[in-house]
Amino acid sequence: MGRLDKLKEECGVFGIYSYDGHDVSGLAYCALFALQHRGQESAGIAVNNAGMIGSFKNMGLVSEVFDTSILSILQGQSAIGHVRYSTTGDSLKENAQPMVVKYRNGQIALGHNGNITNARQIRDELEDQGLLFQTTSDTEVILSLISKHRLKTDNVIQAIKLTANHLVGSFSLVLLTEHNLIGVRDPLGIRPLCLGKLDNSYVLASESCALDSINADFVRDIEPGEIIVINKDGIESFFMDGISEKSRLCIFEHVYFARPDSIIDGASVYESRREAGRLLAIEHPVDADVVMGVPDSGLAAAMGFADQLGIRYGHGLLKNRYVARTFIQPGQNKRENSVSLKYNAMKAVVTGKRVVMVDDSIVRGTTIIKIIEMLKRAGAKEVHMRVSSPPLLHPCFYGVDISKREELIAASHSIEEIRQIIGADSLGYLSVEGLRSSPKESKLEFCTACLNGEYPTELSEKHKKQAFCEVAKVEMEELL
Ligand code: SF4
Repeated sequence: MGRLDKLKEECGVFGIYSYDGHDVSGLAYCALFALQHRGQESAGIAVNNAGMIGSFKNMGLVSEVFDTSILSILQGQSAIGHVRYSTTGDSLKENAQPMVVKYRNGQIALGHNGNITNARQIRDELEDQGLLFQTTSDTEVILSLISKHRLKTDNVIQAIKLTANHLVGSFSLVLLTEHNLIGVRDPLGIRPLCLGKLDNSYVLASESCALDSINADFVRDIEPGEIIVINKDGIESFFMDGISEKSRLCIFEHVYFARPDSIIDGASVYESRREAGRLLAIEHPVDADVVMGVPDSGLAAAMGFADQLGIRYGHGLLKNRYVARTFIQPGQNKRENSVSLKYNAMKAVVTGKRVVMVDDSIVRGTTIIKIIEMLKRAGAKEVHMRVSSPPLLHPCFYGVDISKREELIAASHSIEEIRQIIGADSLGYLSVEGLRSSPKESKLEFCTACLNGEYPTELSEKHKKQAFCEVAKVEMEELL
């Protein structure tokens, strides 16, 4: 929490179908706690009790939204849970998830991680057909499509397959119906989703760290384009129509979003970050006395960087763990002020030293300016900035809050200009190739659209305009 000047992930999802009489809402609560880093604006749990779906959701952290009295009411055999940071749809309770609706065939609850890039278009078409919407969320569009297709099909799986044919963008879904817990991953696997087992029961989660939090065993990742159905008869897997071999997991899951103790599509997030730091040191070596990382997501890369060059690794930047949710403070000034509340430099480590400071990414640059100032005030002789991902040049349309190019410092400045702005003695970014090769064991290929403009899905004209403009092209040519 307290993610200053950082990319923001949209959501985390969880699901459980119990054959063992587990306290499903209690387990969902614990798992959402482990997924809290993926979204801190709202949290919710929906539970199926003998075909009746009840739910509770509100704005706030998991620990603020739920207490034992609420959880004790949410009893049943299966449950889904959701934590949210909004990118599409306003930050309102109505847009919190899981969304639960009644339709012709009963009730359905849905939790969505990702972003449907053609949601507006689908919504317009459905509204033209007389359908009503209660929220501004793209998740309601998915529910409406499922409901519409369910009228024409025998079963909900077929309705989900037909729905998926219309959706462009990223979606990892958990659904509860009268009889099923269903997990769905988009055809490119942009957002993660994995399957675990707890005793004889099955669980689904955005990250494996959520399985660990409830002592469930990791079974496997849900494959791109897969629909997994769990019910009283067991578990069954289906695939969407027309799935290709192409996969595009968001590379920033490894850079920043996921917890380092998670394993995503075969690759350890911690090892990926360490390897990114090692490759960064090969690409941008520097003569220095100590290597430090910006806590928390820069630490593993800093260790890899230090190892590669044989420079001492030091804890030179202290993080105040009690500054919570500073990112929700509106406006640049408040963000800048909160940097010094959140971090402090350790004079014993930095005074008189040539310091390498490693961070996972630079978005606006506001945080790193303050950190470098802090290190120099604490007596650092030189501060060399190294970034374990390439410059962010383009917006993301797949569920990460970088929709405005103006907020990306690298979209309008050269590397030398950025170095001057942040006050570093030198600056080096990892290359796209280096980053792509850092999750060594990954079974999937990666989306790197915000780094190189290679969007893996079709974009609307509006999105194309947002994604590319002259200034970005000039800067990109300079950087590549
Ligand atoms: Fe991830 Fe960037 Fe692709 Fe968005 S554009 S999904 S942040 S790699």
